[in-house]
Amino acid sequence: MLECADALVTTPMTHTRNDAVLPSDRLALAPGEGISRNELLRALPGAELQRLLPRLESVPLIDGMPIYEPNEPITQVYFPISGIVSMVSEMREGTVEVGTIGREGMTGLPLVLGARTMPTRAFVQVPGHAYRMSDDDLLDAMRESPRLERLLSRYALALFDQAAQHAACNRLHALEERCARWLLLTHDRVDGDVLALKQQVLAEMLGVHRPAVTIAAGALQKAGVIRYTRGKVTVLDRKALEETSCECYGIMRRRAKELIDVDG
Ligand SMILES: [Zn+2]
Repeated sequence: MLECADALVTTPMTHTRNDAVLPSDRLALAPGEGISRNELLRALPGAELQRLLPRLESVPLIDGMPIYEPNEPITQVYFPISGIVSMVSEMREGTVEVGTIGREGMTGLPLVLGARTMPTRAFVQVPGHAYRMSDDDLLDAMRESPRLERLLSRYALALFDQAAQHAACNRLHALEERCARWLLLTHDRVDGDVLALKQQVLAEMLGVHRPAVTIAAGALQKAGVIRYTRGKVTVLDRKALEETSCECYGIMRRRAKELIDVDG
C-alpha cells in the first residue's frame, strides 16, 4: 500500500482531471479537436503532429463497438482521446480482460512490431472519441519519423509490462485491491467521476464471478470510497481508492510514464 502511495507521490499523473472536457453528446469533432489529449500524440513535437494530421480521422467510440476480432488482419489503429478499449481473451471457461487502452495509448500494436493480427478481441468498453489511422498510413508515418517509431515501440513495451503486471496481480492480490486498481485506471481515462459500468463487465474484467464483485464493490461502497448503483460507479474518494489499491496501479502508471518520454 505504502509502495503504491510513494509511487503516486513521485509520479504525478499525466491524466490531469482538469483537462478540457470533450462534449460527450455529439459524435463529430472539429479537425484536430482534443487531439493532444492522447498522450502518444501529445508526446510528438508540434511539427510532427501537424504532418500526421491529414492521416488522422476523428471517430466516435460507440459502447460495445468491435475494434478487432481475433486473428483477423488489423487495418486501422485508434488513438483514443476519451473512452476505453478493452482487449479480452475468450476461453471456454469465460472471458478475461488482458489489457486496456485509453488516451495514454493506441490500439493495433502488432502493426508497430511487424505483425498483422493478434489473438485477442478488442472492443469499446467505455464510449468516447478517438483518432483513427489506416495501417498503411501508420507504417508510412513510422518510416518517415524515427521518433514516432521509437515512441510506439516503447509504448508496445509499456503494454507488455502492463500485461505482465496484470498476470502477477491476478495471481497474488486480493479482489478488493484489484477492483480498486481497475477503477483507478478507468477513472484516469474518463471525464468526471461517474463510470458507466455493469457488474457483469467488472466481473469479466477482473476474471471472477459476479457475486465476488458484488462483495468487493460492496466493501468499497460501505467504506464511502465509491457509490455503486445500477450500471454506474461514482468515485467519491479518489485518495481512498488509491490507498485501497495494490501497488500495481502505481507500478503501471510509473512505467507507462517512463516509457512515453522518448528522450528518456
Ligand atoms: Zn495488484
